Amino acid sequence: MIKMAAIKVKCSVSNCHYWKDMYCVAEDIEVNCQDGGMEAESSENTCCDTFEPMENE
Ligand code: SF4
Repeated sequence: MIKMAAIKVKCSVSNCHYWKDMYCVAEDIEVNCQDGGMEAESSENTCCDTFEPMENE
């Protein structure tokens, strides 16, 4: 079994359920291309699909 390295994810999306003090506290996140493809031209073309708004709590 491959053990994944634990990384810190800095994030500025302060209204996300998983956000705390400028960092993500989710166990894992899913990042995808905004156009649904498999290649992005720049970071602006990517997005975090694990985002969950705080309003749902
Ligand atoms: S789930 Fe995504 S949007 Fe939410 S805090 Fe983590 S990295 Fe940011």
